[in-house]
Amino acid sequence: MVYDRLPGGTGYLHRLLDPAAFRATLEDARRALLACRCQDDGRRACHRCLHRHTEERFQDVVSRRAALEILAELLGPVDEHGELLDDRWQVTDLAYTGQIGLDRQVESDLEARFLAGLRTWIADDPAAAFDEDGHDSGYLRFTDTTGAVRWWLTAQQEHGRTRSDFTFRRIDGPAETVTVYLDGHRNHATRDRNTLAADAEKRGRLRADGHTVFQITWDDLDLLDKQRSGAVEPVWPPYQRTAQLNAAETYAQLGSERGRLADAVFTNPITTMLAYLRNPDGTEWARRVVAAIAGLTPSAAPVATAVDRAGAQRGVQSALTGTAAGRPGSGAIHVLRATDDSGLPLVLAIDATRGTAPADIAWSALAVLDDTDGVLDTPEHTRRWRA
Ligand SMILES: [Zn+2]
Repeated sequence: MVYDRLPGGTGYLHRLLDPAAFRATLEDARRALLACRCQDDGRRACHRCLHRHTEERFQDVVSRRAALEILAELLGPVDEHGELLDDRWQVTDLAYTGQIGLDRQVESDLEARFLAGLRTWIADDPAAAFDEDGHDSGYLRFTDTTGAVRWWLTAQQEHGRTRSDFTFRRIDGPAETVTVYLDGHRNHATRDRNTLAADAEKRGRLRADGHTVFQITWDDLDLLDKQRSGAVEPVWPPYQRTAQLNAAETYAQLGSERGRLADAVFTNPITTMLAYLRNPDGTEWARRVVAAIAGLTPSAAPVATAVDRAGAQRGVQSALTGTAAGRPGSGAIHVLRATDDSGLPLVLAIDATRGTAPADIAWSALAVLDDTDGVLDTPEHTRRWRA
């Protein structure tokens, strides 16, 4: 939505009614953003690009990267030199904005089902609201956490060369993006269509860029529906009860409430996603991640014990290739190998260089999903993929 806020009008907005002129303006904006020097000093934006057009109260929120994502969605993505990779500019005349809705943007049954689900989950929740009147997007609002948490939801967003199904952008606080991919097994994880490595790479890149990424499958939607009608036990604990208790113990040691782990972590990924949107508290979620990894350590097998960084690198290699463990060293890093309940191999690295108190330890975990033809299309592999 473009509108004029200057009393009496700026006098030039009517020129943007011409689609070619509007496109040229957006392209100029993209060129300016791509060239701005603030990208080299790690700033979200600066006075040369966005700040001098931004109200004071939004200075901390406005982001060059978010602006580029929105422009990529309108115009199509560009490569690092600003060359258009795929022209997505499309213009349609409409009588009024109410004719545009999120449903029109939805491209698959899975997405339609997620959107329908989202409306139901929110409708059932007295502390949440989802408004989507007359825009090609929706606004999700949670009111039961300290202050309100608000997200702007759009469908089919461009992020560099990958396209997410749904994107939540936080609009009440620090810039933050949650991207959601809805993956059908048949189109992602079978011998005929195996995109596992490419999926992992694209999503890994988004995570490195600071996005929080959720991957949701048809089964997750199925199981959540059944769970809501009370037909099945909550789904998908990644590992056994004892390991879950270990995880809760670590969570408590880190200073959080023991009872607030399981409902957020040992559950359907959709429930985890909604819990995150409701309260995206970075400290709490970082502790939950650590606790989830720590839960597995008592049942994990050591691969490299008390090694330095180089030794840890070798340890991760041997954990991945299944070769023998090395001899203990005098460093502060431990590498372990474990499997979750679906048989998915995990490699854990525990780095106590900064100290051995729970809050000083740095944790890393790799989940290893085999994508070779020999294992694809087996029930075991499908289960690991879903996990
Ligand atoms: Zn700048």
